[in-house]
Amino acid sequence: MTTEINSQLRENLAKVRANIAAAARRSGRQESDIALVGVTKTVEAKIAQMLVAAGCRDLGESRPQELWAKATAIHDPSPENAIRWHMIGHLQRNKVRRTLPLVSLIHSVDSLRLLEEIDREARTLERPAAVLLEVNISGDQTKHGFGPNEVEPQFSEMAKLEHVTIQGLMCMASGEGDLVQARREFATQRELRDRLQRTAPPNIPLTELSMGMSGDYEIAIDEGATMVRVGSALVEGVVRTAT
Ligand SMILES: *Cc1c(COP(=O)(O)O)cnc(C)c1O
Repeated sequence: MTTEINSQLRENLAKVRANIAAAARRSGRQESDIALVGVTKTVEAKIAQMLVAAGCRDLGESRPQELWAKATAIHDPSPENAIRWHMIGHLQRNKVRRTLPLVSLIHSVDSLRLLEEIDREARTLERPAAVLLEVNISGDQTKHGFGPNEVEPQFSEMAKLEHVTIQGLMCMASGEGDLVQARREFATQRELRDRLQRTAPPNIPLTELSMGMSGDYEIAIDEGATMVRVGSALVEGVVRTAT
C-alpha cells in the first residue's frame, strides 16, 4: 500500500511539475521561476511526509492548528534541504505567536491589524517575517482579503513596520470552475500588482504573485503567477479529497 501511494504521489508531482514547466515557457519563463506549494490540508501527516520524500519541499496549510500539528510531525529530509511551510488560510491574530516561528511565508495577510501583530512577533523573534497581502479580487463576500482599492491607502502605515517584508499579493479565483472568469481575475490581480508596485514604498517589493490552485494553476501562470498552491492534483488517487 505504501509503495503504491508513493508511486502515485511521484507520478502526480511529476505531472504537475511538467504542467508548470509548460505554462512557464508559454509566458517566457522557466519552471524554476514558479514556486510550487504543495497543499496538504486534506491528507494526514504520513502522506505529507511522503510528498516531501517525493521532492516537494514547500508545503501549505490553510488552518493554523493543522499547520502546527504537521510541522511538528513531519521531518526535514536533510538539514540542507529543509521544508518551507506556507500559511495560506485565514490567520487569527491570537494564533500569530505560535505560527510565525514555523513558517517561511504567510500568504493570507488580510488586514493591517494582522500585519501589525506579525510585525510585533517578528521583532520578538528577531527574524523578519515574509508575507503576502491577500486581495479579494473577485469581491466575493465569503472570502477574506483586502479590497483591491484598500491596499494603496495603507502603504504608509505598512511601510513603518520594520519586521515584515511584503513580498507580493495572493488571491483566489471566485471558483465554480469558471476558467474564463478565473483568468480575468488573475489578470486583474496582476494589473493591480503592477500598478501598486509603481507607488509602493521601497521596502515593499511586491515581486510575488501567489495565485492558482489545482483547477486553474496553469491559467494563473499564464497570467503571471510566481507561486501556485496545489493540493488535490498532488494527492489525486491517494485519498478522496475533502472539499
Ligand atoms: C485548499 C487550498 C488550495 C489548494 O486547493 P486545491 O484545489 O486542492 O489545489 C490553495 N489555496 C488555498 C488558500 C486553499 O485553501
